[in-house]
Formats: sequence, C-alpha cells, structure tokens
Amino acid sequence: MGFEAVQLFHKVPTNILDERVYICVLNACAHAGLINEARQICEKIPFNQRTEQIYTTMVDTFSRVFLFDQAQKFIDEFEKSHHPSIPMYMSMLSSARNAKNALLSQKIFDRIQSNFSNVENCITPATVLLANTYALSGNKSMASIIRTKLSQTITKKVVGCSWTVVNRKVFKFRAHDRSHPCSQDIYAELDRLEKELIEHGYKYDESWIARPLNNDETVESVLSGHSERLAIAYNLIQRPTPTRIQVVKNLRVCGDCHTWTKLVAKTRRCLIVVRDANRVHHFYPNGECSCQDHF
Ligand SMILES: [Zn+2]
Ligand SMILES: [Zn+2]
Repeated sequence: MGFEAVQLFHKVPTNILDERVYICVLNACAHAGLINEARQICEKIPFNQRTEQIYTTMVDTFSRVFLFDQAQKFIDEFEKSHHPSIPMYMSMLSSARNAKNALLSQKIFDRIQSNFSNVENCITPATVLLANTYALSGNKSMASIIRTKLSQTITKKVVGCSWTVVNRKVFKFRAHDRSHPCSQDIYAELDRLEKELIEHGYKYDESWIARPLNNDETVESVLSGHSERLAIAYNLIQRPTPTRIQVVKNLRVCGDCHTWTKLVAKTRRCLIVVRDANRVHHFYPNGECSCQDHF
C-alpha cells in the first residue's frame, strides 16, 4: 500500500521521525515502485541520519525498477564514508537476475567476491543468483559451469524443508519426502495440479535447478518434489478445502515454485502465505504475489 504509506508518512510529526519510520515508508515505496516519492523523502533525511539500512532501501527501490545507475549512485555515496555493505550488492544482484542481465550480474558478483569473500554465507547465494541469471538469459553452458563448481565447493548441503499446520498439528516435509502416511494422496494431488496448471500455461522452468541433474532425474521430477509443493498439496487434500494455507520454508523459494504457487492460488481460489528464508509471500486468489515477483 505504497500511496497510503506515503500519505501517512507526511502526517508523522517531524520530531518523532527516526530510522524506523524512514525505512518503513521507503520500503513501501520500493514495493510499490514509487521512485519519485522515495527520492523526495530521502532528500529530506539529513546526511548524518542516513544509515546503512536507509541506503540499502534506496538501492533496493531503484534496483527493483531496473534503474541500476541510480542504485549504484546510492552505493557510491554510501561508500564514500563507509565500508561496502553486502545487502546493497545482493539487492542489485537479485534485480539483475530479474532483469536477465548477465553482464551486470557478473560485474556485481565480481565486486562481491573481491569485497566480501570473508563474509560467511554470502558467496553461495550470490553464486546461485549469478548462475540463475546466466540460465535465464539463455547462456546455459555458463550457468552449468558455475553450478558444477558450486556443487564441488559446497561440503554441507542444506535440505529444503517446509512446515505447515493442518488441523492444529505441525507437519514437516523434506524435498521429495515420501514418509507422510498420506504421501500417495499428496503425490496424486500434485499430479492433478500439474495437469490443471499446464492448462493454465504453466511450464517447468529448468533454469531454477541449481545443480547438474543425476541420471535418474528429470526437470519435472526435481522441481515437483520441492518441499513447499508437498506442504501445499497436503493442505489441498483436506476436506473441506482450506481457503488459507500457510507454509514456512527454510530456504528461499525458487522461481519455478513461485510461478507454480501463484497459479495454485488462482486456480484453487485460496490465499497461500509462504514465509521463506528471505521474506513473506502472499499468493492471492487473483494469481499475484505480494512480492510482485521480486524475491
Ligand atoms: Zn522450488
Ligand atoms: Zn512472491
């Protein structure tokens, strides 16, 4: 609700304006694509009050609408007096992926590697984003080289898990889980959904598979076993069918599951809320997600 947030912001007495208020309204601008409003608000923030988070939100605002030069200006301004900040680069990198801009993605990735190689847990997600960008932009061979290298360097792989509550009980699903007593029904529901969604234009998007396929795997078998799909399908075989489904996932949702979940919310007319490692997605019955496909 970007416009409402900006209107409300202008009613906030100036003596109580602080970092939290600024971040809140700038975030709202970022999510609603209100770049002029964000810029006007930011210009009024005194330099000594512009924190790292405020700069990050501005970088995010401009990256989301693919105004990367403007985003870079905020990074440059911040770095005049601070050490580089990883969230700013990750924001640009994920927008570069959404823009399918492999050249820019590689440039940002190189800067991340030279500036943050000692920051734990940042090179792997950055590498996945880079590989995804190459795959999405059509350079599959480069994507596969990066993914192969990545799978050789990662020693400890985190298995994707999703949790959901059905009849007041918590159920956990691992990727490709078949341990649930209703497993057969869950996979039958996934098959039904697959047919339904394909009729609505769904196509498996292999560019989201972040590793080389094993011999016994197909694009379909890998993607359709992602844990949030199992959790959602389990909800959908309940009678009466729930109008609101809630799932928590330990990793970030992949783009293919994101498209899939949007279509499930639409065709089954329910609200699906998925909290992943990065954010909360509200998949509405109109087929849209609250993140506006930026995640
Ligand atoms: Zn997925
Ligand atoms: Zn989303």
